[in-house]
Amino acid sequence: MSVQPIFNRLALIGTGLIGSSIARAARAQGAARSIVATARSAATRRRVAELGLAGQVVETNAAAAEGADLVIVCVPVGACGAVAREIGPHLQPGTIVSDVGSVKGSVLRAMSPHLPAGVHFVPAHPVAGTEHSGPDAGFAELFVGRWCILTPPANVDQAAVERLAAFWRLIGANVEIMSAEHHDLVLGITSHLPHLIAYTIVGTADELGQVTRSEVLQFSAGGFRDFTRIAASDPTMWRDVFLHNKEAVLEMLGRFNEDLSMLTRAIRRGDGDTLFEQFTRTRAIRRGIVDIGQDSPAPDFGRPHPDLPHEPLPRPYAVDDK
Ligand code: NAP
Repeated sequence: MSVQPIFNRLALIGTGLIGSSIARAARAQGAARSIVATARSAATRRRVAELGLAGQVVETNAAAAEGADLVIVCVPVGACGAVAREIGPHLQPGTIVSDVGSVKGSVLRAMSPHLPAGVHFVPAHPVAGTEHSGPDAGFAELFVGRWCILTPPANVDQAAVERLAAFWRLIGANVEIMSAEHHDLVLGITSHLPHLIAYTIVGTADELGQVTRSEVLQFSAGGFRDFTRIAASDPTMWRDVFLHNKEAVLEMLGRFNEDLSMLTRAIRRGDGDTLFEQFTRTRAIRRGIVDIGQDSPAPDFGRPHPDLPHEPLPRPYAVDDK
C-alpha cells in the first residue's frame, strides 16, 4: 500500500547521524516527494551524495531552505541560531521549520527571532541515537519505537504541529508533546546527567596509572564497558548540550551529589539496609524500562555469548538428563 507523502520538499540542514537517518527513513517511507540535503563541509556533502541520501545535495543552508515545506535543522545545538539567521530570508510562508537538538529551551530562544512571520516553528527532539556520528552512521530504523518529543511554542499553528507529528510517526517514532522547559528538565536526568557521569568515570579510570589502566580495559565487562559506550559520544554535540542546558543539569547534578553522599555514608558506616533498599528500588526501574519496550529483556543487553571452547561437560546433575 503506497503512502501519500506528507511533505513536498524536505530540507535537511546537517546530515550526520540524525539527519542521514531521517533522510533514509523518509525515503523508505515516502514521507516527502523530494529530499534536499546540505552539510557544513564539502567532504560531508560529497559523502551524502555518494550514499545517495538525498535527491539533491546543495552547498549552502539558504539553498537547501529555498522552496522547502519542511526544514529540519540537524546540527549541534550551539549552531542552530546561526543556521536560522541564514535560512530565515529564504523560507516561504507556510513552511514548517524544526530541529532535532537534544536541548530545547536554548534552541527555541536562538532560532525564533530569525524566523519570519508565516513560518511555523515546531522544535523537536528524537530520543534515539548511538555513539557514532556522520552520514555513514545513520540508518532508517533509528527512530522505530523511540519517542520524538515536540516542544511547540504556545502560539504555534496546531495543524503544523499535527503535520510534523504525522511525519515522525510515519518514520516509526512515537510522538509526545511538552514544553521546552519540561523537556530540558526530564532529559537532564534521563540523558544529560548519565552522559556526564559516564564521561567522568571513564576519565577517572584513564587517569589511573598505566598498569592499572590496562587492567581497567581487560576487566571492563565488570560494568565499566557499558559506561564507555556512552562516553564515546560526540564531543561537540555533548559540549553544546551541557553549555545550553546548564540550569537543569546543575539542578540534577546537585540532587545526584546529595544521593551519592548518602550512599558514601552508608558504605562508610556499614549500613547494608540503606544500600539494599536503594539497589532494590533501582532494579525495579530497570524492569519497568524493559516492560514498556524501551530495552531488550535479554541478559547483558542481548550481547551474544561465545560457545564453550570444548565439548560441554556431561550433566549427571540434571535430573531430567537421560
Ligand atoms: P553529527 O553526526 O556530528 O552531524 C552533525 C551535522 O551538523 C554534520 O552534517 C555537520 O557537518 C553539521 N555541523 C556541525 N557543526 C556545524 C556548525 N557549526 N554549523 C553548521 N553545521 C554544522 O551529529 P548528530 O549526532 O547527527 O547530532 C545532530 C543534532 O542531533 C544535535 O543537535 C544533537 O543534539 C541531536 N541529537 C543527537 C543524538 C545522538 O545520539 N547523536 C540523538 C538525538 C538528537 P560536517 O559533517 O560537514 O561537519
